[in-house]
Amino acid sequence: MLKKVIISGVAGFLGTHLAETLLEDGHLVIGIDNLISGKLENIKDIHNNGFTFIQDDVCSNDFPLNPLFKDVDQIYHLASPASPKLYQKYPFETINVNTIGTKNMLEIAKSNKASIVFTSTSEVYGDPEVHPQTEEYKGNVNTWGPRACYDEAKRLGEVLCYLYYSVYGVKVKVARIFNTYSAGLANDDGRVISNFISQALSGDAITVYGDGKQTRSFCYVSDTIRALKLLMDKDEANGELINIGNPMEYHILELAHLIKRLTDSKSPITFLPLPKDDPKMRRPDISKAKELLGWEPRISIEEGLEETIKKYKAKMRINNV
Ligand code: NAD
Ligand code: UDP
Repeated sequence: MLKKVIISGVAGFLGTHLAETLLEDGHLVIGIDNLISGKLENIKDIHNNGFTFIQDDVCSNDFPLNPLFKDVDQIYHLASPASPKLYQKYPFETINVNTIGTKNMLEIAKSNKASIVFTSTSEVYGDPEVHPQTEEYKGNVNTWGPRACYDEAKRLGEVLCYLYYSVYGVKVKVARIFNTYSAGLANDDGRVISNFISQALSGDAITVYGDGKQTRSFCYVSDTIRALKLLMDKDEANGELINIGNPMEYHILELAHLIKRLTDSKSPITFLPLPKDDPKMRRPDISKAKELLGWEPRISIEEGLEETIKKYKAKMRINNV
């Protein structure tokens, strides 16, 4: 059935991919973005009559009153800088969008009896002492450091979701997303895959922070987007927290070598200081997503990276980088 869907953060990395697939499915999409970390050029090629773009900040007081938000069926609340480089550049905006902004989106869901997916993050586990991370693990987050504005704001966003679910019965689902990538990541986004591929293709040094022994688990964007849609459509997932990620875990140095090999690059690998509070390991336990959504990732890291590298090459040719 055709649905009216709001996506906050539509001009960002995940928002753009999500809008494209929902429009392909025939839904009406209202995309909102204030362009703090997203780019208008990401959505300039969406020529679909079902798409409406509103350039606005989801934190403004009167935001939920926009008459366009009447009769909305589904809300994906994605708005928030996600790259450490950007959330540390905009710490107060990051706190606001995940708290005030989340409350505003929950209000729209409440008044429309709509379903809402809040994109939380593996960062709620902080620097984890439990490995892999299950949804039951309560986390090891530092309030006094450069990542706190993001981690703690997402945690408070989850609290608001819990309250709107338990007090008002809003159909809330929380996705704890682990590192996701594709060529949709802007070259200057600062996240590891965009940095390493841009560096490898331009012959610059590949910048490994610390000794590169820290780990991450990388999920290709189509797998993450499929999970978000399944989560939205599943009534049994109301009031649930779910890890979304690929459990294949890599050392960052291993990733640097893999990207060097796949790009056939001569770039040297250089070691820079490890940023404060950088988590030492991260890998999702996705048993709950498998059981509840029947979901697991399909794209291997090599396949995903090859596709990403191909598209980055084309992007860099166009921009003459
Ligand atoms: P992104 O920075 O590319 O996109 C976020 C978008 O939100 C941007 O277009 C930005 O301009 C917009 N935005 C920020 N504040 C806003 C506000 N106040 N009002 C309106 N728009 C606003 O990030 P992304 O990678 O697409 O991530 C999307 C969501 O998924 C984020 O909530 C992020 O925390 C979460 N997440 C992403 C990942 C990942 O690996 N990509 C991992 C964990 C969680
Ligand atoms: N990283 C790195 N070099 C870079 C960018 C990131 O070694 O140029 C490391 C970073 O220190 C972290 C991992 O790669 O250990 C993932 O970083 P990213 O910023 O992509 O996401 P995070 O998982 O830290 O939020």
